[in-house]
Amino acid sequence: MPFKPTPSPNCPKCGKQVYFNEQIKLQEKAWHKDCIRCQGCNKRLDPAAVNDPEGGIYCQVCYRRNFGIKGYGYGIGAGCMAE
Ligand SMILES: [Zn+2]
Ligand SMILES: [Zn+2]
Repeated sequence: MPFKPTPSPNCPKCGKQVYFNEQIKLQEKAWHKDCIRCQGCNKRLDPAAVNDPEGGIYCQVCYRRNFGIKGYGYGIGAGCMAE
């Protein structure tokens, strides 16, 4: 079998080729460093700190807003108001 060089993968965000020396691996795909941005607010993200529910990438804030822990924030602290 002849050796075929693997073509550079395409960035899932912008669709352009990502060369090996600039790629960041995330979700088993190769991304441009600059393309790892929150889908909610477009902020640049540290690949190590990405929240990636359902294939999306989100910063901490947008992640909580969109996928916030359900049932949290209700019914806590209410009830006993001393003072
Ligand atoms: Zn890109
Ligand atoms: Zn965000």
